[in-house]
Amino acid sequence: EHLYYLTENRKIPFPFVPPSMSHHNCFVTSLGKLTRWLGGICEDDGVDIFCGFSGTELLYDGNQVTGVRTGDRGINKNGEKKPQYEPGADINAKVVILGEGTRGSLTKKLINRHELMSEKNPQVWAVGVKELWKMPSGTVPPGYVAHTMGFPLGGDIFGGAFLYGMQNDIWDLGMVVGLDYKNPAVDSHHELQRMKNHPWIRSLLSEGEMIAYGAKSLPEGGWFSIPELSVGGAMLIGDSAGFLNGQRLKGIHLAMKSGMLAAETTAVALSAGNFTETQLADYRRRVESSWIRDELWGVRNFHQGFDNGLLGGLINSGIGLATNGRGWGFKNRLFSEAGHTKMEKGIKTDRYKDLQFDRKYLFDKVTDVYYSATAHEEDQVPHLYIKDRDICITKCSEEYGNPCVQFCPADVYEMVPDSDGQRLQINFSNCVHCKTCDIMDPYQIIDWVPPEGGDGPVWVNL
Ligand code: SF4
Repeated sequence: EHLYYLTENRKIPFPFVPPSMSHHNCFVTSLGKLTRWLGGICEDDGVDIFCGFSGTELLYDGNQVTGVRTGDRGINKNGEKKPQYEPGADINAKVVILGEGTRGSLTKKLINRHELMSEKNPQVWAVGVKELWKMPSGTVPPGYVAHTMGFPLGGDIFGGAFLYGMQNDIWDLGMVVGLDYKNPAVDSHHELQRMKNHPWIRSLLSEGEMIAYGAKSLPEGGWFSIPELSVGGAMLIGDSAGFLNGQRLKGIHLAMKSGMLAAETTAVALSAGNFTETQLADYRRRVESSWIRDELWGVRNFHQGFDNGLLGGLINSGIGLATNGRGWGFKNRLFSEAGHTKMEKGIKTDRYKDLQFDRKYLFDKVTDVYYSATAHEEDQVPHLYIKDRDICITKCSEEYGNPCVQFCPADVYEMVPDSDGQRLQINFSNCVHCKTCDIMDPYQIIDWVPPEGGDGPVWVNL
């Protein structure tokens, strides 16, 4: 396991990996494979898994959640029913546990309706983009782990890269970019390509072949950005609740544990025949008395420290290590602002003018999307709602230069010329479901909703 600071041409090892960042004796695995394996075990135990349906609405009785409505299938792009139309179904449940990943669309509705973020720090996200590279036999040590900071993001953008050695000679290279940067031109996909230009990475990958691409956002805000975890009839787990240790860049163990605690809460609620808000509040108590709280409490101010740049963040981390999580000024709680509010107007820079995509080693977004194996039925209503398209061609164009074109890692948003000057074109079938647009749009006018059930990236080995 290694930790490096990168300059444009050099890599400088840290003398040791701090215990709080160490992953020694952990497993490196494909989450796609892990969840498929777990899914098989659940089905063997008699659990029904309804793949291919999206949850589009929460069902309510008053303020009590009573189930989920799945989306209609077979609606064409004009909103008309096709011959194979199937209406969505209402799935009634005593308890609904939402584990939708980051910025879940039902989670967003639940949080807004019940004001679950009241008095919390706003959630702050990052986006991770990655490529898998198949290498010649015997060249990749399985279990190798490296995390880096510095190049290519520099000191002003939160984030860094990771490199994992997988079985069967596969390198898993990724870049995580905090979604609270100032420069609207920042592009996580392009930062990953810049990373591949580093001589160290080139020396590792140049004999290989890129085989997969994907992107996903992650909740980095920490303990103070976790919403209230339950309402009558519903609970939030995993990334949907913001359970991620930003310092270790790990959340799967927290997702698993929160799922187990929600299950235990449900078992008690079933015995009592009581699914009210008061009963399910037991879930928060279970989280607070578990190792989830111990782990996240020790890094509760980690991300906030990077509001002062990389150096400020590292010093703040040091304070946190010495004080079990206190921040600058030894404060118990540092406050933060939503990431999209940090984007600055009027910056005109081109960080990527030297990037040349040869499609053999450096890939443009569309080629990378091909390797994500994402697929959407083309004749459906696009799943990206823009609440006011005029803003795109007027204010946003003038003030920020349409950052959606940059921050989407899948080339979904394109400004194309037309008779009125320009218009926004949405290539929704490219979408790799990372949710960055819903999070980072400076005007908060993009609403990501699930496409027709079953559509999206395949996540074969990611
Ligand atoms: Fe991610 Fe939004 Fe682009 Fe889809 S459209 S890939 S969710 S940024």
